[in-house]
Amino acid sequence: MLIMLNDAILKDPNALMLLRFLAFSQHGEIREERTVDVRLRYPEVEETLALTPEAVLSTIEKLVHAGLLVKRPYSNELCCSRCGSMNIYMELFCIKCGSMNLDKNLLIRHYECGYIGAEHEFNRGDKYVCPKCLKPLKQIGVDYCKEGIAYECSDCGEKFLEPIEKWYCQDCKYTFETKEALLKNLFTYKLPSSVKVKVSAILFDMSPLVERFKQAGFNVEAPATIRGISGLTHYLDVLAVKKLDKGVKTVGVRLITSESEVSIHDVYSFYSEARDSKLSEAVVLALPKASKEVRVFTEAYGLKLIEVKDQNELIKKLDQVLEPKHLK
Ligand SMILES: [Zn+2]
Ligand SMILES: [Zn+2]
Ligand SMILES: [Zn+2]
Repeated sequence: MLIMLNDAILKDPNALMLLRFLAFSQHGEIREERTVDVRLRYPEVEETLALTPEAVLSTIEKLVHAGLLVKRPYSNELCCSRCGSMNIYMELFCIKCGSMNLDKNLLIRHYECGYIGAEHEFNRGDKYVCPKCLKPLKQIGVDYCKEGIAYECSDCGEKFLEPIEKWYCQDCKYTFETKEALLKNLFTYKLPSSVKVKVSAILFDMSPLVERFKQAGFNVEAPATIRGISGLTHYLDVLAVKKLDKGVKTVGVRLITSESEVSIHDVYSFYSEARDSKLSEAVVLALPKASKEVRVFTEAYGLKLIEVKDQNELIKKLDQVLEPKHLK
């Protein structure tokens, strides 16, 4: 057992669910999102594990604190400098009188006389007419052009390109400038791949397999250790022993996990341990799958190979584990 999965985590059902989710799901990360109701949400986890956002957040924090999850910012948002709320919106003010009574206009320039004004000054029915020289504007790019956007204060008449921007907090009713606002990051959380391999191994639930062996009349220990002829002690995820008319049948199961595919190196050491332990059958559970070499090797040396991409696949393949196959 690894030290990093301490008791506080192993006895916390939410923490275990979340770790399983990260270890065995396709996505492998939790993405924090901000919704219209301005709360932090974790949509996929909440739905899959039926947890509240608060429960997800507190569990995530616990796992980050234990060094199991890495936290990375992927986006950020401004929030209220006084109360920290993200429930804020921007307000625009006149640069001269401070009024919020503003219009936003498209600016038009008449090439011939050089006049620049708001679009509404040029509107005459469905045509444009220059308010200064009173000539019609027919073709864009020939008679006139668009000059961008400007604001106009309806109270003092000031025209300007960049209004004063301030933020208003709906929660504490405070108004503040952008430079005052706090910056909050949104994070993703995931198991680093080295941790993921270990966590998958620890959390992989062997109980369906244990039950199946018991139904078949085996005495089962899981996990178990077995002493080899060499005097070395070997670890097994499941050891199933059954007395037969002639002698004893011992089946040893080892779960071998990998970030991508289980390699021959891992399987070879289990093979020698299985020989040393005089197992009648050695079963490799390869999570999430085995390399091509492993398939050839296990076939040639009489190990049983069961590839399981996740927990559910073990349940589907239980019968294969119990089919007899003998070590040469
Ligand atoms: Zn506030
Ligand atoms: Zn004004
Ligand atoms: Zn003109």
